[in-house]
Amino acid sequence: MKVSLIPEKCIACGLCQTYSNVFDYHDNGIVKFTESDNLIAEFRDDDLATLEAVKNCPTKALML
Ligand code: SF4
Repeated sequence: MKVSLIPEKCIACGLCQTYSNVFDYHDNGIVKFTESDNLIAEFRDDDLATLEAVKNCPTKALML
């Protein structure tokens, strides 16, 4: 699965990293990927922790 970040929608709540450490934050708290500065990244379909993070982002700043 591919996950896209939409930084303009991120409210820096910090929730996504509590589900999956593929997410990290810029100094201002806005989401980024831990491994890259790209806005899209591919993860295994069975990475349920990352899937849960996407589903639970309150502002839909994470998209499949
Ligand atoms: S859960 Fe959503 S709004 Fe909260 S930090 Fe992560 S991407 Fe941003």
